[in-house]
Amino acid sequence: MKVCIIGAGLVGCASAYQLARTGFEVELIDAAAEPGLLTSFANGAQLSYSYAEPFASPGTLRSLPKMLLEPDSPVKFRLRADWRQWAWGLQFLAACRPGTARRGTAMLLHLAQLSRRVLDGWMQQEGWSVGFVENGKLVLCPDEATFARQRALVAFQAKLGCRQEVLSPAECRAREPALGERLDGVAGGIWTADECVADPYRLCQALVDSMGALGGRTSFNTRVNGFVREGRRIVAARTSRGDVSADAFVLAAGPHVAALASEAGFHLPVYPVKGYSITLPFRGEARPRASVTHLGRKTVFAPLGDALRVAAMAEITGYDMSIPESRVQAMIDSVEAVYPGMCRTESPKPWSGLRPATPDSLPRIGRLASTNLFVNAGQGALGLTLAAGSAAKLSDELVRFAA
Ligand SMILES: Cc1cc2nc3c(=O)[nH]c(=O)nc-3n(C[C@H](O)[C@H](O)[C@H](O)COP(=O)(O)OP(=O)(O)OC[C@H]3O[C@@H](n4cnc5c(N)ncnc54)[C@H](O)[C@@H]3O)c2cc1C
Repeated sequence: MKVCIIGAGLVGCASAYQLARTGFEVELIDAAAEPGLLTSFANGAQLSYSYAEPFASPGTLRSLPKMLLEPDSPVKFRLRADWRQWAWGLQFLAACRPGTARRGTAMLLHLAQLSRRVLDGWMQQEGWSVGFVENGKLVLCPDEATFARQRALVAFQAKLGCRQEVLSPAECRAREPALGERLDGVAGGIWTADECVADPYRLCQALVDSMGALGGRTSFNTRVNGFVREGRRIVAARTSRGDVSADAFVLAAGPHVAALASEAGFHLPVYPVKGYSITLPFRGEARPRASVTHLGRKTVFAPLGDALRVAAMAEITGYDMSIPESRVQAMIDSVEAVYPGMCRTESPKPWSGLRPATPDSLPRIGRLASTNLFVNAGQGALGLTLAAGSAAKLSDELVRFAA
């Protein structure tokens, strides 16, 4: 059975590799010239297996008015003449209910744990060189109230299989000596020893190479514009280079999946949430070992070889991908506060990406109605973390479909 996958980001590449392993004939199509050039290019690089809570939560709802009103806030919302944005926003507010957020956390942790098992298996078999390291993650809390909320989360997540430690400021410093003397004024931290990092772009390349070795095909510089249908069945994807036929099609177009789904007559609640990163070379031999998430600065830091990857901000402002200088400077300021003098900041390699976000942060994986069209999208802020598990779930669905 031939499966055509549209989109070669982390999610599409992982899907293509997993389906080729399962024995499907695979064709992976992307509008770009190579895999991993859109949202999967320079993200935060954290495999965040124990930090998978939905963005929509009672805590987010409480702090939303303040975050939206502050001029330099990391969170930005610009109302657009786009019903999809309004519908997404209303569904987001509904998803902030405590029960919905708790259920979402449990479901995402479950998918993250599956992802960890699947990716570990792939890494062992393939031995990819993708900067994969189990380096642990320290989450720094800026004040007592945030620290108390994080301690409650640790207790809740312990019942779901996460192993995490609550640390005093002195213990945070002992755990990660690369942090500045003053520790940027934190109240305490949470340490998770088994969190990992990997380079998302290199992982996309490795997945596609290995898929090719299994007989999978790629078509880059090929944009899908619509579908050719016979009744409910899709017989071909209409592309900028002609029609591509297959027995089943998978929409893995990240932040652009909703537009593609609507070409096939479906509504998917996936809307872009923009974020930024910079990548700074270390100045000397001193460098952090662990990843750090600073909840006050809403910024994540991950050591990737000889450089520090820094990612931040969430802007619900449409598909614009421009990079304001003020956002880059804010991330450089965070680096100087957390790791004073450790990085070279002259050429920070700024990047922006659009997280493919659903209102409840749960990805949409599976068959659309009773067609031969499938979706694997909406991994939002966790696409690197969830790609392998999402691919495994999709593969199970396609095996059921093929039976
Ligand atoms: C600032 C930032 C930091 C992040 N940090 C982390 C992190 O630390 N850990 C983590 O787990 N996740 C992180 N993420 C999230 C992660 O990057 C995304 O969830 C993930 O990259 C999404 O992958 P994707 O394959 O769904 O989409 P994409 O990578 O965007 O891939 C979609 C592909 O579809 C193609 N496409 C779209 N439309 C068409 C069409 N019509 N025809 C053909 N091709 C098409 C595009 O060219 C693209 O290659 C972060 C995201 C951002 C923005």
